[in-house]
Amino acid sequence: MTAAASPGLPAKMHALVREFIAAPGAVEDAVTEFGSPAHLVFPQVFADNLERLRAVLGARVPGFRICYAHKVNQSRAFVATARAAGIGIDVASAAELDSALKAGFGPERIEVTGPKGEGFVRELLGSGVTINVDNLWELERIAALAQTRVPVLVRVCGFSGTPVSRFGVPLARVDAVLELLAARRDRIDFRGFAFHLDSGEPAERVRAVETCLVLTERAYAAGLSPSVIDIGGGFRQVFTADADAFDAYVHALRESLMGRGEPMTWGGNTFGFHLDDGAVHGTPVFHKYANIVSADRMLADLLDTGLDSQGGRTFAQTVGENLLDVWLEPGKALVDHAGITVGRVEFVKETADGNTLVNLDLSRDAVTPADQEVMVDPILVPARAATGPNSGVVGVFLAGRLCLERDLITNHKVWLPRLPAPGDLVVFPNTAAYHMDLSAARASMHPVPPKLAVARRSGTFSVCRDVDWHEVH
Ligand SMILES: *Cc1c(COP(=O)(O)O)cnc(C)c1O
Repeated sequence: MTAAASPGLPAKMHALVREFIAAPGAVEDAVTEFGSPAHLVFPQVFADNLERLRAVLGARVPGFRICYAHKVNQSRAFVATARAAGIGIDVASAAELDSALKAGFGPERIEVTGPKGEGFVRELLGSGVTINVDNLWELERIAALAQTRVPVLVRVCGFSGTPVSRFGVPLARVDAVLELLAARRDRIDFRGFAFHLDSGEPAERVRAVETCLVLTERAYAAGLSPSVIDIGGGFRQVFTADADAFDAYVHALRESLMGRGEPMTWGGNTFGFHLDDGAVHGTPVFHKYANIVSADRMLADLLDTGLDSQGGRTFAQTVGENLLDVWLEPGKALVDHAGITVGRVEFVKETADGNTLVNLDLSRDAVTPADQEVMVDPILVPARAATGPNSGVVGVFLAGRLCLERDLITNHKVWLPRLPAPGDLVVFPNTAAYHMDLSAARASMHPVPPKLAVARRSGTFSVCRDVDWHEVH
């Protein structure tokens, strides 16, 4: 196959990251100093992402708060960047709360979401953080145990047309919530309603917003005075640099699943597609890679949507007129393009069916939540000492270091510009959002890859351990 004809999945990249990878020796020096494999985060890209969201909000609503959803990445440098930028933080465990406090967040800038047990609820009471309540039991425990007034948001769920969620209070139980809030005003400072949707479907978010506005009016009628509407996270990433190339790859993949053209899948993997009646059906597990709408665009569109229930006024106008602050909890949108993962080629081998396997020194769970397939091409960075002939473009599968059949880093064929050699480096783009931390395990006693932070200061790149990160001034 020629280069022009081989299916490719080019990754969108931030200029800073692209320049780092292209800087001679930069990637290799980092893993020579700190070890391979490694995760690299780019706090300056985080800051760029934040400024874009901030600009959208600043132009539209008088009051807002962005809370960085910590669970997307464990990086200390990201948390420090969020604190320095003056935004809030959303934590979902005692350890994340500790991380936020150590980074210098005051409790008034911390929001705690997610399911919480009795122990964690007790720890939060009196701390001054805002508790985003998941369920009635939690609210009842707060009402029963609080010694001082506790700031509370109430997460709701069960909007029409939205899949059932395990999180939040179902709309049908909101009456009980309002009753309790009104009865315990002395102990609970009710700040407003919240939701969080994983969906990229704009209409679902609009319905959730309209519902929360109605609930806010009901809260006022019940004698409460909410001042916040929290629209959660879920603002999407853009992975692909070329939507047409992505579509062409997926088309070729579907053809190959039907037995047409070059085989492109490892081990009978169908990526969530269903094959029947001679056709390929369903939504693949990698559907997020098809997105081309940026998070700031998605947020702007939401704020600019005319709401039927508000006489056609936009969401932004409505909150402005009602003096409501908009809170949001972006995770992946803030770390989009702000991290890469580097591994080294150990060896290349041929399989019994004639495929080429490139074995790396990392495992699948270090670059993706295990059930997802990474659908952007890794970048081959030849070792400085690289010699050997240039083979031209080759289609390969990348295999991980674990002694498990399933540790294939790619179950789809990847075309590289040449056959890698031992010692070459492979860079996985855009891994900061959930990819590097969410599923990483210490299987076979391999240590978790170290996390490094990269900054460009006066034109030069510097790399340090993530825990040693200091602000760029
Ligand atoms: C995970 C989570 C977020 C962040 O979601 P993203 O999709 O990464 O933006 C925000 N809010 C809550 C409650 C969450 O659980």
